[in-house]
Amino acid sequence: MIVSDVKVPVRHSEADLIRAIKKASKKKDLKVRSVRILKRSIDARKKPDLFYVMKLAVNEPEPAPVKQPASDITGRTVVIGAGPAGLFAALTIARAGKEVLLLERGKSVEERSADVERFFETGVLDPEDNVQFGEGGAGTFSDGKLNTLTVDKSGLNARVLSTFAAAGADESICYDARPHIGTDKLKEIVIRIRKDIEEAGGTVRFNAKVLEILVKESAVCGVKLADGEVIETERVVLAIGHSARDTFYMLRDLGVTMEAKPFAVGVRMEHPQKMITMDQYGTPDYEELGAAPYKVTAKTAGGRGVYSFCMCPGGYVVNASSEPGRLCINGMSYSGRDGRNANAAIVVQVTPEDYPGDDPLSGVEFQRALEKKAYDACMGRIPVQLYKDYDRNRVSTEFGGVTPAMKGAYGFADVNRILPEPLNEALKEAIPKFGRMIKGYDRPDALISAVEARTSSPVRILRDDSGQANIKGLYPCGEGAGYAGGITSAAMDGIRIAEHILYRENVE
Ligand SMILES: Cc1cc2nc3c(=O)[nH]c(=O)nc-3n(C[C@H](O)[C@H](O)[C@H](O)COP(=O)(O)OP(=O)(O)OC[C@H]3O[C@@H](n4cnc5c(N)ncnc54)[C@H](O)[C@@H]3O)c2cc1C
Repeated sequence: MIVSDVKVPVRHSEADLIRAIKKASKKKDLKVRSVRILKRSIDARKKPDLFYVMKLAVNEPEPAPVKQPASDITGRTVVIGAGPAGLFAALTIARAGKEVLLLERGKSVEERSADVERFFETGVLDPEDNVQFGEGGAGTFSDGKLNTLTVDKSGLNARVLSTFAAAGADESICYDARPHIGTDKLKEIVIRIRKDIEEAGGTVRFNAKVLEILVKESAVCGVKLADGEVIETERVVLAIGHSARDTFYMLRDLGVTMEAKPFAVGVRMEHPQKMITMDQYGTPDYEELGAAPYKVTAKTAGGRGVYSFCMCPGGYVVNASSEPGRLCINGMSYSGRDGRNANAAIVVQVTPEDYPGDDPLSGVEFQRALEKKAYDACMGRIPVQLYKDYDRNRVSTEFGGVTPAMKGAYGFADVNRILPEPLNEALKEAIPKFGRMIKGYDRPDALISAVEARTSSPVRILRDDSGQANIKGLYPCGEGAGYAGGITSAAMDGIRIAEHILYRENVE
């Protein structure tokens, strides 16, 4: 039987759990032989007394694994980009026994890790292999949060999580309300998924940047790589991510239909993690739960949404740049989430009205302008400022009780000069509101760094119900194409597009 709303203290015994199951099932004589967690969330309303609220399968056998149906497609599918979308598309096609070639412009995660560490230490950027580009995609050097707002009636979410668990992630990601992996574990998992693709007959190539999509009579007939190699195919999955700006321009010039779309930009704020855990859990340390996450959101008088995004408990602010002379930041945590600071992007909604001109890629130019200002503000180091100084438009001179936990060099600068004034005003209106939601959030020595410019893609590549763009055989997919926001929803879209190809391509 499935029993919902089973509530137990976070620190509980087996006897406590069985009592709670009998209470929730209203069956006081129930014989509990086996328990499987289906869903688990934390109830902190009576903090510091914290509870798990769970949905359990009691005395239920494990569900039988779903067999992948056969497909009658022929020929090779080329997948561009080894981020979550590309990896899951290639894995799904390979496991259906069909030919698939996955092309990634960056390096394998092993080599990539060295390049990224070198970049953090020296500031020397490899524009083809960095925090955005390379095996595993943008999310590899991240907190590996797997929660998604995408409503999923098809079970794709559960398939993505169970695939990550089968590749080495802790099984709790399959049932926790806020599942996460951590960058240290994510790298190993990406390697496992690569091996699963290869063991299923797929091919994965690195340092294989696609420079052109070759088209004949409005249909794909191949791709051309940066080294001049031409690979023939009638099917290309475009899983290129939100930072492949050169590829976006190639696609626009090819006549691929796309449109500018809203996203969000802003800053990242850092606070002592203990302060956040104390506020969220009512106690500074709850080793069973680790560092507490938070979520804050507000609407300005002018109607703009300001909200926390990609919160990293016990994490680091990272220099996530991919273009020389431009700087953007993001956040990451290790699986232990044991860093001294909590950080989150605090971002403001922006729309095509904010972008220069009406080109479908005007959002890219909006990002580029912000990132150039951020780069110039501190000669390529991450610009940082104390909240009290940001509020008064002055450069900080010394830190207070919060010191940066960052991957990449940093320096003092006035963040006001990087963001457009309406965004500064929106942030200055919202942060005091967040201070009323979380005690100490607007403390004078909280840290602000910039610029968080790549929260999602500024463009959507249009696709029809079969998943194809206005060029036959071209399948826009994942975050870059505007159909996902985050690791899990990108991976879900990878499976979705792969199944369009495998099972609906030949259905006219
Ligand atoms: C530092 C950081 C932390 C993040 N933290 C989280 C998190 O905790 N949780 C979460 O859900 N999301 C997080 N995100 C966002 C998440 O990483 C993305 O939403 C997700 O990776 C999108 O997946 P994707 O496969 O669509 O694209 P991407 O992951 O961006 O992958 C695209 C791939 O395509 C390759 N590529 C691009 N152009 C070409 C070309 N022309 N030829 C060949 N290859 C090409 C790129 O090199 C890249 O590897 C984070 C992002 C960053 C940068």
